[in-house]
Amino acid sequence: MKKSKTGKPFVIAGPCSAESEEQVISIAHSLKETNVDVFRAGIWKPRTRPGSFEGIGEVGLSWLKRVKDETGLKTAVEVANPKHVELALKYDIDVLWIGARTTVSPFTVQEIANACNGLENEILIKNPINPDLALWMGAIERFMGQNIKNLGAIHRGFSSYEKTKYRNVPIWEIPLGLKREFPDLPIIFDPSHIAGTRNLIFELSRTALSLNFDGLIIETHNDPDHAWSDAKQQVLPEVLLSMLDHLLHREGELVMDPSLEKLLELDFRIDTLKDQLGDVFIKKREIKELIREKQEVTPLT
Ligand code: PEP
Ligand code: MN
Repeated sequence: MKKSKTGKPFVIAGPCSAESEEQVISIAHSLKETNVDVFRAGIWKPRTRPGSFEGIGEVGLSWLKRVKDETGLKTAVEVANPKHVELALKYDIDVLWIGARTTVSPFTVQEIANACNGLENEILIKNPINPDLALWMGAIERFMGQNIKNLGAIHRGFSSYEKTKYRNVPIWEIPLGLKREFPDLPIIFDPSHIAGTRNLIFELSRTALSLNFDGLIIETHNDPDHAWSDAKQQVLPEVLLSMLDHLLHREGELVMDPSLEKLLELDFRIDTLKDQLGDVFIKKREIKELIREKQEVTPLT
């Protein structure tokens, strides 16, 4: 993957998870010959708790092979161990990404990096779930150490105990810090896992492109509400395509002087504080309400 300073941002789209051959093929056909470069689908899903859908497994890779043959789109999957790498390569997958839960583990990252030694495939490293720039850089360095040329990063936001409007808070200074440390490394923006809800995806993507991110990865499903994972954040292919039309068409106007990046970051922090302030007022009202109810039951004398 090349850094796109003036060129078109690189676009990856497709469902959170591959669910059935029909689903995968139908979504892929609606994305062919568009602004989408790569078709994504999770085959092995890192779920927080056992018992939910943990991915369709190897058979899904054969569906992705069909996507590639029928649509000409490149394909991408998440790999979380050396066996996944071996299988992905067997099915001719072009782009491998390392998930946020894997990036936190240096031993696992090293094992995957070793399994990727010398590969020419694109390998994208998501940020760790915790807001730790050094841990993200460390994972990237482990791949650099294995002679991997086509490396990139994905910014998917950071887990937070505080309740915010995001599923994972963007904390823009971390990916911007990564850009400063590795100026030639492309960074793809993942609004889906940051937003957690589809209505924030457009605005987040616009901000990312104005901050000169090199591409987008957006979860796209033909029946988002019934998706087997991440249902709330997936968009229909036609919604994705009209968002991209808007975002990519207006990219020239949106590209911003890097000196304004800091300003935008500060602006975002104010926005976040405003949201948190709103939450505080709501909580305060709820507590007052509880006190009032209690007083009605047992009046203070
Ligand atoms: C995904 O891309 O579907 C995924 C599981 O992402 P993350 O590792 O960012 O949670
Ligand atoms: Mn997902």
